Amino acid sequence: MLDKLVIANRGEIALRILRACKELGIKTVAVHSTADRDLKHVLLADESVCIGPARGIDSYLNIPRIISAAEITGAVAIHPGYGFLSENADFAEQVERSGFIFVGPKAETIRLMGDKVSAINAMKKAGVPCVPGSDGPLDDDETKNKSFAKRIGYPVIIKASGGGGGRGMRVVRSEKELTEAIAMTRAEAKSCFNNDMVYMEKYLENPRHIEVQVLADGQGGAIHLGERDCSMQRRHQKVVEEAPAPGITEEMRKYIGERCTRACLEINYRGAGTFEFLYENGEFYFIEMNTRIQVEHPVTEMVTGVDLIKEQLRIAAGQPLSFSQKDIQIRGHAVECRINAEDPERFLPCPGTITRFHSPGGMGIRWESHIYTGYTVPPYYDSMIGKLIAYGENRDVAISRMRNALSEMIIDGIKTNIPLQQDIMADENFQKGGANIHYLEKKLGLQ
Ligand code: ADP
Repeated sequence: MLDKLVIANRGEIALRILRACKELGIKTVAVHSTADRDLKHVLLADESVCIGPARGIDSYLNIPRIISAAEITGAVAIHPGYGFLSENADFAEQVERSGFIFVGPKAETIRLMGDKVSAINAMKKAGVPCVPGSDGPLDDDETKNKSFAKRIGYPVIIKASGGGGGRGMRVVRSEKELTEAIAMTRAEAKSCFNNDMVYMEKYLENPRHIEVQVLADGQGGAIHLGERDCSMQRRHQKVVEEAPAPGITEEMRKYIGERCTRACLEINYRGAGTFEFLYENGEFYFIEMNTRIQVEHPVTEMVTGVDLIKEQLRIAAGQPLSFSQKDIQIRGHAVECRINAEDPERFLPCPGTITRFHSPGGMGIRWESHIYTGYTVPPYYDSMIGKLIAYGENRDVAISRMRNALSEMIIDGIKTNIPLQQDIMADENFQKGGANIHYLEKKLGLQ
C-alpha cells in the first residue's frame, strides 16, 4: 500500500479521501490555503502544509507548491480529488516526473479525453455510441458547415472542443444562424479556453443525463459499476443524483456498461472514471468522459457496496482490481442531494459562520461534509458544503428517508438550498422518476 499521501483538495472530498486513507493505513498530508486552516480534514490529518493565500490560483491550483509539499513531507502520492487540478494533464505529468504517484489516469489519457473532439473520436473507435455530429473540428468553410448541419438535421449545437463547466456551446435552430454561431463560439472558446477548436453535434431536445461509473487498473482489468441519473440540473450543474437510473433495465445496463469497459481497455485507462451520456428515446449518446472521481460517487457506492476511493488508492499502489464484473450487483436505490451555502431563491452563494449544526441520521442515511458548529464557510470556493445521501431497498424508501433527513438537518447562521431540495423531493414528477435535464429549470420558472 501507499505509505503517505498528499490530499490536494479541500472540503468534503478532502475529508472523504482522508477517511479512506485511514482505513488503509496510509499517512495523510493536508495541503491548504490560509483561508482553510480550520477545515476538518486539516485538523485530522497526520501533517498539514499551508500552500498559499485563499484564492485558488495561489494555492489549490499552484502546481509547484503542491509538489513541494509532497517533497518536504516525504509523501509518495498525490490525490487530486475533483475540480481544481484533477483533470489537468500538465499537473499529472509534473507529479509523475517529480517521482510521485498521481492518483488517476496517465497524463496522456487525461489529455486525450480532455479534448472533446479527440475523446469522441477515441470513443467512436471503441464502439461507444456518440451524438451524430461533424466527426471532427469545423473550419470556416461556410458551404461545408451548412452541408454538415443539413445532414445532421437542425437543431444542432456548436461546442468548444476544450470547453467545460457548461460553457462554450451554442444551439443553432436554422441555417441562417449557423455561420455567426460558429464564429461566436470560436471567439468565446479562444478567450475562455485558449483553444479555438469547435465542432458540431445534433442538439437533443429533451434528453436525460445518465453516466456510467468505471474502474480500471491499467493492467488489463476494467469493470463498470452501473449508472447514475443526474438529470436534475440548474445551469448544467447537478443538484440531485441517483443510482440506478429509473427505467434502465439490466440488459441496457449491460449493453452500455460493456461498451464503457471495452473503451477503458482500448485507451488503457487507469483509475476511476465516468462516461457521461445524454439518453433520449431509449438511446445513449456519449458526450464526455470525466477522468477523476465525481461529486456523486457515493450513490454508486451505496448500491454496489464498493468503496470507490479505496479502489482508487489500491489501483494507484499498483494493485489489480479487487472485484470482477460478476461481483458487482446493484442492490436497492440511493439518492444524493447536494447541500449548498446559497440563497435558495436567488441561488447566490451565502458564505458565513455556521452558528448551529445538527446532522440528520437513521437507517440508510449518509452525510458527507466537513462542516461543524462554529465553522466559517469562506467566500472563495464552490458553495457546496455537503452531500446528503439516502439509501433504501427501493427508490420510494430512499426518497422518504431523504425527506426525513432534510427535515431533521439544522444549519443556522447561513442560508442553504435545503428548502429547494425539500421541494424537489416532494415534486410529483421527480417522484415518478425519469425527468429530463430541463425539468428543474422549467419548474423553477427559469426556462
Ligand atoms: P461540459 O464539459 O461543459 O460539462 P458537456 O459536453 O458535458 O459540457 O455538456 C454539458 C451539458 O450541455 C449537457 O449535460 C447537456 O445539458 C448540454 N448538451 C451538451 N451537448 C448536447 C447535445 N448534443 N444536445 C443537447 N444538449 C447538450
